[in-house]
Amino acid sequence: MRIKRVAAVAAAATLALGMTACGGDDGDGSGSGSKGLVGKAQSQKKLVIGVKADQPGLGLQTGSTYEGFDVEIAKIIAKGLGVEAANIEWKTTVSANREPFIQQGTVDLVVATYTINDERKQKINFAGPYFIAGQDLLVKADSTLAGPEALDGKTVCSVTGSTPAKRIQQEHPKADLQQFDSYSKCLPLLENGKVDAVTTDDIILAGYAAQTQYVGKFKVVGKPFSSEPYGIGLKKDDKEGCEKVNEILKAAASDGTYKTAWDSTLGKSGKAAPELDTTKLTNCGSV
Ligand code: GLU
Repeated sequence: MRIKRVAAVAAAATLALGMTACGGDDGDGSGSGSKGLVGKAQSQKKLVIGVKADQPGLGLQTGSTYEGFDVEIAKIIAKGLGVEAANIEWKTTVSANREPFIQQGTVDLVVATYTINDERKQKINFAGPYFIAGQDLLVKADSTLAGPEALDGKTVCSVTGSTPAKRIQQEHPKADLQQFDSYSKCLPLLENGKVDAVTTDDIILAGYAAQTQYVGKFKVVGKPFSSEPYGIGLKKDDKEGCEKVNEILKAAASDGTYKTAWDSTLGKSGKAAPELDTTKLTNCGSV
């Protein structure tokens, strides 16, 4: 019994040491008393932020540069926390590794078309939402496929660990769902007829349809069948960090920086900036 306890204490100590050694995200040392995200931003003046790398208009990597609406939102959050864009280390995330990246401290924040939902809230905390998307279908321009109910017996491509893939499995089990780690892998399959549709959020699909190599080839069906509120993921117990991010979003809604983020990315398609409804921001895990 005693030996077991000693071992457990030693294990906990090793764990704590290990976390400090990785540069963790609880690093404070600022004397401000803030821990988590706020403390790290204050003391280290840098942040590691997870974004998508292959979603045009949202998170797209070219060389070592990332661009898109999520990237601009991330820069606004970092700035509000006192971290300059040049001091952000961007980390590519795919849908399935977002919770583990946050839980393990690989990233401080995730801004990656990341739907807020209760299942994910068991593992992490969400600030936001800063945008509301909806699940839709991308099909060939001449396809007659009109909605998810027409997917029975058809092949549909999506991504592991995403809410759209899960919805197809649960609500349209007769569809032949093919899953990859990122959506861009679905596009060649749609182009050469290996799948009948690609499914994810409408805003992501619109970005692919507008890519030069696909112009005129695909269409977004345009009948969204879910609500996907995009949140900013951070450590589950970091209520202070979450509240701070929500405050920064509120400021961005009123000072015009949210609109600028939209206009310089997704807004280039001509779509007007959405209203950031700050009455809908999460309560950061409060009961
Ligand atoms: N918003 C959905 C999700 O968080 C789909 C987009 C994505 O996979 O990033 O699962």
